[in-house]
Amino acid sequence: MNVTFEATRELARRTVSDVRHPDLDPYTLDAIWVLYDRVLRVDPQRLRDPARDRFLLSKGHGPSAYYAVLAAKGFIPAAWLDTIAHLESPLGSHPDATLVPGVEISSGSLGHGLPLGVGVALGLRATGFHDARVFVLVGDAELDEGSNHEAMAFAGTAGLSNLNVVVADNGSASLGWPGGIASRFDVHGWSSATADMTDHDALHRAFTTAHPDRPHVTVATTRP
Ligand SMILES: [Mg+2]
Repeated sequence: MNVTFEATRELARRTVSDVRHPDLDPYTLDAIWVLYDRVLRVDPQRLRDPARDRFLLSKGHGPSAYYAVLAAKGFIPAAWLDTIAHLESPLGSHPDATLVPGVEISSGSLGHGLPLGVGVALGLRATGFHDARVFVLVGDAELDEGSNHEAMAFAGTAGLSNLNVVVADNGSASLGWPGGIASRFDVHGWSSATADMTDHDALHRAFTTAHPDRPHVTVATTRP
């Protein structure tokens, strides 16, 4: 299956009513779609290719958009979308890397994705896969978790240029980030960009901004 963005949005709608957080609109669909449609070098026929790019969904409590894109791009059957969170379904309320083809990490405990992404980026660098990139999608609220701060500081200092973060910013953080989200990455030596979550060309430009010798963050903004 390889379908359009509009068709993929319809796929996402098939999952929303059954997930644990039914009030969550799959607003991350635009960012995940642009990554899989235009940016990531991944192939459902070569799931374990060591040179592949890695996408890590840190905000695993909102998997609808992710599952829809995985179906649209041929990683999982679209029929699975109708079974989400059923007892026998591979698609849980949080993604399970042992059950869902193409899912790189099991996630849902917030604040884990970025530290894991740092480790994957280090591993790729250490093993010589210099063209493989890591993209981690985090929510703005999960940046309240302290584990992110340590990962950001380390990645900036280590110059992890193969690491990319996408912050899905819907203004939901309890604590917030004085100075703005991007500035908090900037002070640790990251490259940063901001884009409207619904503007696919702007997202694509932000995701593919050159950032030699440093990691890169895209703050993708949306407002309810
Ligand atoms: Mg949020």
